[in-house]
Amino acid sequence: MERNMGGWAIAVHGGAGVDPNLPQQRQEEAKQVLSRCLNLGIDALRSNLSAVDVVELVVRELETDPVFNSGRGSALTAKGTVEMESSIMDGSGRRCGAVSGLTTVKNPVSLARLVMERSPHSYLAFAGAEDFARQQGVEVVDNEYFITEENVGMLKLAKEANTIMFDYRIPAAGGLETCSAVVESPILMNGLPISVYAPETVGCVVVDSQGRCAAATSTGGLMNKMSGRIGDSPLIGAGTYACNICGVSCTGEGEAIIRGTLAREVAAVMEYKGLGLQEAVDFVIKERLDEGKAGLIAVSNKGEVAWGFNTTGMFRGCATEDGFMEIGIWD
Ligand code: ASP
Repeated sequence: MERNMGGWAIAVHGGAGVDPNLPQQRQEEAKQVLSRCLNLGIDALRSNLSAVDVVELVVRELETDPVFNSGRGSALTAKGTVEMESSIMDGSGRRCGAVSGLTTVKNPVSLARLVMERSPHSYLAFAGAEDFARQQGVEVVDNEYFITEENVGMLKLAKEANTIMFDYRIPAAGGLETCSAVVESPILMNGLPISVYAPETVGCVVVDSQGRCAAATSTGGLMNKMSGRIGDSPLIGAGTYACNICGVSCTGEGEAIIRGTLAREVAAVMEYKGLGLQEAVDFVIKERLDEGKAGLIAVSNKGEVAWGFNTTGMFRGCATEDGFMEIGIWD
């Protein structure tokens, strides 16, 4: 899918990897959040906010809503704690900031932006990042704030299946088919297997009406991840990238995205092979990504918006200045 209308363009994602049997109610709930956040971004673009301001604003909103896997609602580590990570990149001047291992910062994407703008570095993690947050006076809360009942149940399921989860998978009657181990009796919540509540990473890419591109990604990482694990989302070039040509945000299995340096590859094939935005997205997914692992959203400086994934689905929304708007999950 590609639109090329000039002017501004925006795309958001709420994670890749969706069970085809995801209940309608859950699909609608996710779409409503995406639509609300997309509209927030559209209003900001109409008010002439810059691309980097808009991606921060939209990702903050997604972090605050517990439906997706970032900020409140973050996936849990094997210890049952939350370790969040985020990155932001402003394509104008290729400035970037990233954070990992956050346990108390309410909006990780805003701390990533402060790393970009107020520190001499581009990436801070764990205790040092938390110290920087306090120094900068950003809002902090107890780790419990981020932990939802659904995710506690989901972690239990992941532990029983002895797996690390990155997507929505509903355990079938006989077990959790898609995991390496089988769950004999799925844990139910409101009559539904608990994995239908599994959360997903968020991201936003924007080109503003002046052709400036920006990208931001935020996540709690993978459910049941080892404490200390760092995924693709805070890694510039892997989960997030922006330059004067395009902005890209990825989602899916971080280890596969890191191996493929997915976000940067999209920009590289546009730059060095002269591919268009959608061609570049399709090429990178086909050539650089293991099957069934991830997806991404992208915008170009020409006002194009594109997305692609090789998982069963990807929660996403996009809009362009001419009035086009789409919210979707499936292909
Ligand atoms: N890419 C994220 C990670 O591996 C997970 C996701 O996109 O859902 O941490």
